[in-house]
Amino acid sequence: MTASPSDRTLKPSTRMMGAGYDPKLSEGALKPPIFLTSTFAFESAAAGKRHFEGITGKRPGGADGLVYGRFNGPDQEILEDRLAIWDEAEQSLVFSSGMSAIATLLLAQCGQGDVVVHSGPLYAATETFIAKILSRFGVTYLDFPAGATQAEIAALLEQGKAQAAKQGGKLALVYLESPANPTNALVDIEAVRAARDAVLGADGAPIAIDNTFLGPLWQQPLRHGADVVVYSLTKYVGGHSDLVAGGLSGAKKWMDPIRSLRNVMGTILDPHSSWMLLRSLETVELRMTRAGENAAKVCAFLKDHPKVDGLGYLGMIADARQQDIFDRHCSGAGSTFSLFIKGGEAESFRFLDALRIAKLAVSLGGTETLASHPAAMTHLSVPDERKAALGITDNLVRVSIGIEDPDDLIADFAQALDAI
Ligand SMILES: *Cc1c(COP(=O)(O)O)cnc(C)c1O
Repeated sequence: MTASPSDRTLKPSTRMMGAGYDPKLSEGALKPPIFLTSTFAFESAAAGKRHFEGITGKRPGGADGLVYGRFNGPDQEILEDRLAIWDEAEQSLVFSSGMSAIATLLLAQCGQGDVVVHSGPLYAATETFIAKILSRFGVTYLDFPAGATQAEIAALLEQGKAQAAKQGGKLALVYLESPANPTNALVDIEAVRAARDAVLGADGAPIAIDNTFLGPLWQQPLRHGADVVVYSLTKYVGGHSDLVAGGLSGAKKWMDPIRSLRNVMGTILDPHSSWMLLRSLETVELRMTRAGENAAKVCAFLKDHPKVDGLGYLGMIADARQQDIFDRHCSGAGSTFSLFIKGGEAESFRFLDALRIAKLAVSLGGTETLASHPAAMTHLSVPDERKAALGITDNLVRVSIGIEDPDDLIADFAQALDAI
């Protein structure tokens, strides 16, 4: 525990150095050790029984100690305490990947005949999981475009409710992704909350949101009415492109069934990656702030370049409705954006192949700048009509700016644009 001067509420960046860890319990080690153990010794047989009563739900409140590595561990618990701080969530849970977090959430929440209402586009694997895997268990979905209004969202929720009734299920989950990957389209979380409360009641289907692109620094969705925040911790939170992990944060009542399913399936994160993320969280604000400043400088250079056909950057929004959503929900424009090159795939490929500092790779949110071509890479399997509808064109290059020197990055982009 970090001692708090009594007149101050400590900020997340301060609390990342100590929250949830007591050196006295670990031989005085200033930093948490990596607890490489698959199981934990019980003080007595009665204590072991009590733990399992909690794990299996025979006694409310869950386990009150550490039991087995598939359920939890010290590194994971410290990480969960610290992750929750950023979103002011009651609890967080960490997972072996962003997708295992998303899959565990969806499976915990949905049953036979249920309906998921989601914003579009979604991360491709999330879309696949909802459309191709959940459908095998009789779960159907309806989707609305990211920029939809409250009235449009309410109408879709009514439709979802009727569809669920016909299927003998319920409208089980409202799932959002904002900003969306790779278009940066924003969803009006406040409008979704108002529509949910009006159509389904405040106790209706929870609203989950994938906050990977702006979280945890630049968007706090729980403040705007979401119930569960979803992270690929692989991206900005991990931040060094050296691990894969996921997280969910929200009220205990939403986390409880998800934790139970995680216990059954073993989608929990391992101790070593948890420890790496504790290290990452100490610098997440520093890294994201620098990456955001770099992106603003790079985009200012790219904006009027003769070989550039436009930018999908949240610091330069053209649409009034999107700008209004941004102003109400976001405190920063992030460092991941779409760069439209004049021409098509050939010109985009020439640009990508000419980059020297920026690396040609998918993913985002690392210390290094990455560039990729969604139409030919991450979204290659998306049908052409859907690609067109989502604005994933052949001249779209997705860029994630890192924490390098901004002038070096601008020089790299300048020479690569010249090379087209
Ligand atoms: C990367 C990503 C995911 C999936 O996360 P993994 O850690 O790769 O499993 C989900 N949503 C978004 C928006 C992502 O960028």
